[in-house]
Amino acid sequence: MNYISTRGAAPVLTFGEAMMTGLARDGGLYVPETVPVMAKAEIAALAGLTYEEIAFRVMRPFLGDTFRDDEFRELIAKAYSGFGHAARAPLVQLGANHFLLELFHGPTLAFKDFAMQLIGQMMQAALAKTGERITIVGATSGDTGSAAMEAFRGLSNVDLFILFPHGRVSDVQRRQMTTPSEANVHALAMDGDFDDCQARVKDMFNDFAFRDGVRLAGVNSINWARVLAQVVYYFSSAVSLGAPERAVSFTVPTGNFGDIFAGYIARKMGLPIEQLVIATNHNDILDRAMRSGAYKTDGVKPSISPSMDIQVSSNFERALFDAYGRDGGAVSQLMAELKAGGFAISQGALQMLRGTFASGRCSEDETIATIRHAFATTGEVLCPHSAVGVKVAGEHLGAVPMITLATAHPAKFPDAVEAAMGARPALPLRMGDLFDRPERMTRVPNDLAALQAVVRERTAR
Ligand SMILES: *Cc1c(COP(=O)(O)O)cnc(C)c1O
Repeated sequence: MNYISTRGAAPVLTFGEAMMTGLARDGGLYVPETVPVMAKAEIAALAGLTYEEIAFRVMRPFLGDTFRDDEFRELIAKAYSGFGHAARAPLVQLGANHFLLELFHGPTLAFKDFAMQLIGQMMQAALAKTGERITIVGATSGDTGSAAMEAFRGLSNVDLFILFPHGRVSDVQRRQMTTPSEANVHALAMDGDFDDCQARVKDMFNDFAFRDGVRLAGVNSINWARVLAQVVYYFSSAVSLGAPERAVSFTVPTGNFGDIFAGYIARKMGLPIEQLVIATNHNDILDRAMRSGAYKTDGVKPSISPSMDIQVSSNFERALFDAYGRDGGAVSQLMAELKAGGFAISQGALQMLRGTFASGRCSEDETIATIRHAFATTGEVLCPHSAVGVKVAGEHLGAVPMITLATAHPAKFPDAVEAAMGARPALPLRMGDLFDRPERMTRVPNDLAALQAVVRERTAR
């Protein structure tokens, strides 16, 4: 299995190489050269298996010979052993034909743990074989960073730096990043918003002297291995509702487009997904693009669902690559136009995207109202991101079961939940001392050279 860049001008890599590389050297994102298809009987055979075994069978065809089968099974087992629910990704029912996929039972209470815990295990195993050491730099709107800190803290061959927008993450998110005491993890509070953080990380990858000097690797959702790990729960949930005999639909609260792109891959692999619905908050570039055909940036407005406060959805590039017939030159051109503010999606590409994804947006008031309504009618407490999904899903219910992804635990965003319900959701017992642990972070300016200096100094040895 080979991986190619969406911009068509970077080396072709194996799975293991693509995982370690993150952003391609031409600025693009790695995608599999071909997507392996699972036969209907193979999908049917997933019914009743553990989450871990489904994970093995769904991901194995993408890995080539990076890990032996027994080794990969062991990494999967370790990755999910710290989850607080035996099912890993349980489904609960919200309405006659509407289900909620709870993806928040991992160690940092958001779906990011599914990919990050596994990628931590896989990187550690791959580096242990060669004795190499790498530096990981990631940008976060809150949840990726906490999940990465938890997955990489204490690993012997990795230094991890997480850039987060100062003052724009929730207290729980910040504390999950600033309280790990291990010396190999570093929380950097940057002046700016999430897009600034993401842009500086991309700048570091595009500075090849720096990139090679510190052996830079990435764990943002641009990393293919993360997308792959998220494909699994589309299969586990669909099969438990009757796939492949019965089709299902999914609604996905979306920011960087990584999670919903995993659903797109699941469909390409043969999972019968009828609708794949993009749900955005008032930062609605994706919904606007789907409706108008114009992908135009418009600034970021802070919201009560901050993990989706993004104006440039990195992984959308992967969908565009397919929509433009896998023409890397065309994608490069679009990304150059995006730097100047936006681009018009061609008619052919727009037709493909509209045939593949539906979309909707949810205002702040609607988010609050949805949290209140879901609690009143089902007893389920939604986080504000999940509420965005539930609201948009409600506009797309049909004959097949709708599965909305619940991307975080409500206790990770207690202010929004309190505003809706008048009560603060409690943290699960296993993280009860989060507010008692000492914090450790470094304030940094929105400046590439200054950031590089911090990384160089802390990785010098
Ligand atoms: C990251 C995140 C999202 C957005 O996921 P993408 O893969 O970036 O689209 C939504 N909700 C929560 C809670 C998140 O942490």
